[in-house]
Amino acid sequence: PLTRPAVHAVIEEEVTAQPLAGKRRQVGVFGGTFNPIHIGHLIMAEAAGTQLGLSQVLFLPDNQPPHVDKKEAIAARDRVAMVEATIKDNPLFGLELAEIRRGGVSYTVDTMRALTHLHPDIDYFFIIGADMVAYLPKWHAIDELAKLVTFVGVKRRGYAPQSPYPIVWVDAPLVDISSTQIRQRLACGLSIRYLVPDAVRNYIEEKGLYRG
Ligand code: ATP
Repeated sequence: PLTRPAVHAVIEEEVTAQPLAGKRRQVGVFGGTFNPIHIGHLIMAEAAGTQLGLSQVLFLPDNQPPHVDKKEAIAARDRVAMVEATIKDNPLFGLELAEIRRGGVSYTVDTMRALTHLHPDIDYFFIIGADMVAYLPKWHAIDELAKLVTFVGVKRRGYAPQSPYPIVWVDAPLVDISSTQIRQRLACGLSIRYLVPDAVRNYIEEKGLYRG
């Protein structure tokens, strides 16, 4: 069972109580490689943020995921630039560069330990796609991480909403898009219009990224 306060109760409290000084904030963290960011990511971040009443959703690009295919990785600078260009118009969204700054392999537990230490007044909600949920037991120091955050699972096509850990499930329109698919389409010279924001499509074109 979740030990965190029920989100709706917290929202109610915020609406009725003035001022908010001393109140805890609920912040979403959405980790990913974003290689590149696509509309599936945006739809799920927006769904998690609005359905749970989070005050912010922080996009957390990893420096190097624990199981990376280095051949497919592009410079962190480019992945971050595309995330930045995408989220700047949405006041709910923010960027957290802790993993890029730290360098090396990115373990979520290290990042969340640092963030909760820096911001003891924030309850963190870690957002993951349903495909990742089944792998939670394999995550580095998962038991410590599970104490630091509340996991939020976003339903994804083809994946049953079951979790080995306590999780808050969020409904979002099921979008069958992945970064892998975007990279494959680019390598084949196919259009990615409407699958990624225009700013991302233009950036990829200008920099000649993901060419076959
Ligand atoms: P790749 O195809 O390269 O593995 P990806 O599209 O899964 O990439 P990531 O940056 O690796 O994107 O994923 C970040 C998070 O977003 C993960 O938790 C992943 O499960 C989730 N995610 C990505 N695309 C979707 C989608 N279309 N629906 C639901 N969740 C998604």
